[in-house]
Amino acid sequence: MIIAMKWGTPHIEVLRFVNLLEKRGVKVNVSEGTSQIVLGLVGDTTDIDEEALAAHQWVEKVIRVQEPYKRANRLFHPEDTLIEVARQDGAVSSIGAGKLGVIAGPCSVETQEQIVSIAESVKQAGAGFLRGGAFKPRTSPYSFQGLGCEGLELLLEAKKATGLPIISELMGIHQIEIFDVVDIIQVGARNMQNFTLLKELGHCHKPILLKRGAACTVTELLMAAEYIMAGGNDRVILCERGIRTFENYTRNTLDISAIPVLKKQSHLPVIVDPSHATGRSWLVPALSKAAIAAGADGIMVEVHNNPATALCDGEQSITPQVFSTLMASLKQYAAFEGKTL
Ligand code: PEP
Ligand code: MN
Repeated sequence: MIIAMKWGTPHIEVLRFVNLLEKRGVKVNVSEGTSQIVLGLVGDTTDIDEEALAAHQWVEKVIRVQEPYKRANRLFHPEDTLIEVARQDGAVSSIGAGKLGVIAGPCSVETQEQIVSIAESVKQAGAGFLRGGAFKPRTSPYSFQGLGCEGLELLLEAKKATGLPIISELMGIHQIEIFDVVDIIQVGARNMQNFTLLKELGHCHKPILLKRGAACTVTELLMAAEYIMAGGNDRVILCERGIRTFENYTRNTLDISAIPVLKKQSHLPVIVDPSHATGRSWLVPALSKAAIAAGADGIMVEVHNNPATALCDGEQSITPQVFSTLMASLKQYAAFEGKTL
């Protein structure tokens, strides 16, 4: 962090300020120019609030050189993080560090036949995880809200039938206990900056799939991951799911550049959700391939056995047949990127 003091700051004030900074555990290098004094802070500045410093009477400007996130930062953890989930059949489903994770399933769990049938088809095609919403964050309170606890029970039945680990979205702190049955907890785009929830999930012993907020920057996503990691839970998967832009042909705009940026800045696995990014099923295969080619560690795709009758997000759901064809080509893209499925 670099701090430029105001022109004409008395020496005694500079000394006082340096003293104050050194009490925060950093070393301060003082450079005196002809008209201005500049301070260079060396050490861990993650918990130093630059806005608070900028408000100081004698401070002209504060420039943060290092990112404000530490645990999620690749600088302090150069190796890729691998997330592994043990399966009932003794196998392991993985995401990250060269392993391409494919998560597939319907937007919402609807019936036992629906979820078990989709689980069987996506497993057959090579998916490593089953997704299914039990509690849905719908824009309208009159839309289908999900089956709730019954949805979680049906997911468990699909897990029993296929052995696939299950992922479902948690909406609030009060649900943490009932989500003990899932293998990975999803935090949806709308909750990405629910800091009370993120802090609570920091004490949770399960991987967290953290989706990027529709109007959040890459740094804000990393800071949200930092909240979870600061509580002691290092198993965070980042998910780019499209952001809101002026383009309205697609439901959101998939920010492809976020993938290499996140991979550069962080060691956490990065996956892409092309279904919510586009809102159109026919765009899902192209963007899944683009995601892998851009370096993503996996994808999460909505698959429905009968998209026309889906209770939620049918328009963006691909059929098991399309998913199966997509998986065959993804294997080639993964191999090209040096990853295995
Ligand atoms: C979902 O995954 O079903 C979902 C609601 O996604 P998002 O939070 O990205 O909108
Ligand atoms: Mn959905």
